[in-house]
Amino acid sequence: MQRVVVLGGGESGAGSAVLAKVKGFDVFLSDNGLLKEETKAMLCKWEIEWEEGGHTLEKILNADEIIKSPGIPDNAPLILSAKEKGIKVISEIEFAGRYDNAKKICITGSNGKTTTTSLIYFMLKNAGLNVGLAGNIGQSYAYQVATEKYDYYVLELSSFQLDGMYEFKADIAILMNITPDHLDRYGFKMQNYINSKFRITQNMKEEDCFIFCQDDPVTIGELEKIVTRAKMLPFSQKEKVAQGAYVDDDKICVTVNGDTDFIYLKELALQGKHNMYNSMAAAIAAKAINIDKKVIRESLMTFTGVEHRMEKVMKIKNVMYINDSKATNVDSAWYALDSMTTPVVWIAGGKDKGNDYAPLFQLVKDKVRVLICMGLHNEKLHENFADKVDMIFDVQSAQDAVAKAYEVAQSGETVLLSPCCASFDLFKSYEDRGRQFKDAVRSL
Ligand code: ADP
Repeated sequence: MQRVVVLGGGESGAGSAVLAKVKGFDVFLSDNGLLKEETKAMLCKWEIEWEEGGHTLEKILNADEIIKSPGIPDNAPLILSAKEKGIKVISEIEFAGRYDNAKKICITGSNGKTTTTSLIYFMLKNAGLNVGLAGNIGQSYAYQVATEKYDYYVLELSSFQLDGMYEFKADIAILMNITPDHLDRYGFKMQNYINSKFRITQNMKEEDCFIFCQDDPVTIGELEKIVTRAKMLPFSQKEKVAQGAYVDDDKICVTVNGDTDFIYLKELALQGKHNMYNSMAAAIAAKAINIDKKVIRESLMTFTGVEHRMEKVMKIKNVMYINDSKATNVDSAWYALDSMTTPVVWIAGGKDKGNDYAPLFQLVKDKVRVLICMGLHNEKLHENFADKVDMIFDVQSAQDAVAKAYEVAQSGETVLLSPCCASFDLFKSYEDRGRQFKDAVRSL
């Protein structure tokens, strides 16, 4: 019997263990940290052997194959030892893809993945298709492959998942954009990160589709260097494209296989330039699988967005409070600020991932009146922005940030939480940060 060892017992690891069990492997799951109680219960229910709080090498290095959770870096000593012994190390998506015949629409990019993935899922559901949603979002792909039977999957893929993918093939691959992120995991080399993102196109054939952003210089630069056999379907806000989607004055034109649909910009439920890209990418994907134009249009008009992404919380004393806690890098905060149409009280800060704030300077000068720095170390924000705003304050909790914002915001302004940084200094996660912000706003 072949032995599969799963490293990491989070959502993807636990799901992989279940799928491996269902497929008849001898399975062992090992986690360096502690497992959640519900994970332990699930592993016991499926009669899967596991350990927590450390790795027993003898039980791991005898594997035929290792499924590694995306959080474990490629250069972790255990992974290096496994590779030295010739053990293949793959990701959950690679493993589950072997047992799944569904058509797969896969989304990656530095920003916009969750929004676009959710929007496509919404469209396919509205079209009445039998579709699953997985990847970086919701229940793991592997668990669903083990327990469900879908005709389509919409999969959100991070670069870490893509790194462990070799034979997997997307039927439709979407690359939203590539801007610097996670460089600490890529030897601080942008090209390594680009290569990782482009793995989404691997193994694609002529009948498959590659949807990408024509306005993204990094993507276009890379496309000039590589060969992709898939049908190319770009989207752009800057130029007309023959196939794919572009913005023509007040509407989006989407053309696939010579057939064109129009959607008026003012009808789009998701507003802002970044969302125009997300809407275009989603519309192309839906059209490529022949979803009716009426369903595409209605879905784009009624999609309510995803929590923590430019989420309107409420208006108090004519001040709108927006939760964009998921903006954990400079590019996403750029789009948030760019979409502001009123003066802004901006709440930013957290764990800096080596940010270069220069792209935000002009926007901050033009739009931000007050900056509230919410982090353990706010010095870098002060250095970069103190001379570009009227007022700057330091706080160390969401509650204090909201209280300060409430005190200084003037009628007609917007209070925007778009932190530009990771959340781990003061919060458990970006979700925790967003929820604490919303709770504080709602209790004003
Ligand atoms: P991801 O899953 O890639 O992190 P999300 O859809 O969760 O992307 O959005 C993350 C952040 O980036 C949010 O703050 C959102 O407002 C912003 N954003 C969404 N789509 C885009 C885009 N296409 N380009 C740049 N920023 C975006």
